[in-house]
Amino acid sequence: MTSGQGGTNPGFARGRRLRSTPAMRRWTAQTRLAPADLVLPVFVKEGISEPVPISSMPGVVQHTPESLRKAAAEAAEVGISGLMLFGIPADKDPVGSQADAADGVVNAALQQLRADLGDELVLMADLCLCEYTDHGHCGVVTPARGGLRGQGGAMVVDNDPTLDRYAAVAIAQAQAGAHVIAPSGMMDGQVAAIRAGLDSAAFTETPILAYAAKYASGFYGPFREAAEGAPQFGDRSTYQMDPPNTDEALREVAQDIAEGADAVMVKPAGPYLDIVARVADAVDVPVSAYQVSGEYAMVEAAAANGWIDRERAVLETLTAIRRAGAGSVLTYWAVEAARWLRC
Ligand SMILES: [Zn+2]
Repeated sequence: MTSGQGGTNPGFARGRRLRSTPAMRRWTAQTRLAPADLVLPVFVKEGISEPVPISSMPGVVQHTPESLRKAAAEAAEVGISGLMLFGIPADKDPVGSQADAADGVVNAALQQLRADLGDELVLMADLCLCEYTDHGHCGVVTPARGGLRGQGGAMVVDNDPTLDRYAAVAIAQAQAGAHVIAPSGMMDGQVAAIRAGLDSAAFTETPILAYAAKYASGFYGPFREAAEGAPQFGDRSTYQMDPPNTDEALREVAQDIAEGADAVMVKPAGPYLDIVARVADAVDVPVSAYQVSGEYAMVEAAAANGWIDRERAVLETLTAIRRAGAGSVLTYWAVEAARWLRC
């Protein structure tokens, strides 16, 4: 045996042999990150004349329709796969009427982007009501009754009436030009309701990307500023998943696929890599993971303080999410990371 240097066998393996040069490491890399793995979430706000910076997410803005067009063209140019659109309407009401208004902010934006870009990017429409309702919950609310229990108040999110709203919003988004409908509200039965709605309006070819395993996470904080959808009472713990649970994620994912989801998502990503891995093992549909606002904000804050190397940390987080098994990553760094990956 002459496996060691100098012809001796030191009795241990030399893993360093395969790490010796950048080319060697590239050759042996098990996980690759490419622009096509990335999707950019974007916010478009009604009634502003300039993009509005989001203070807790440096570098991210609420777009005007015009600045969104520019950002979308840039995204297409660097080769990422798609955009996930969120709208912030000027007027909110209890049922989120602007979510399915044909001239509502997100539907108008979808129409414009589809006209600008055709099929160059996958235009995904986040489907929820929290940005559109005056109470900030993801569905319609009703006074607590029977088995429904509110938290710190008498109002609760009513599952089944919300499903009708979701179906109407899905149809409006598909009509506006969305390639993919992405329900994020975590109502039971939402995928089936949306599938039925889309099919009834002849959008049988429009796929559903279900936010299947969405946790009630503290990492959504900055997003609340970005999407202006903070709940006015209670929180989302009665419909989003509980952070300690894993089996529940698999059940939610299986349920969504059974109801007709074409692809599924885990959200957040970084603190839930075990969930990403389990879901990716369990299913045979594309798996996305959403690197949320708090994950972004942590790295930006640390980098701004000079505590970490920003580019290196960003690419490491994205690589880790891919390594866990996500086929695609929604990230606010999508365009910048794509540029780094291209050069
Ligand atoms: Zn919501």
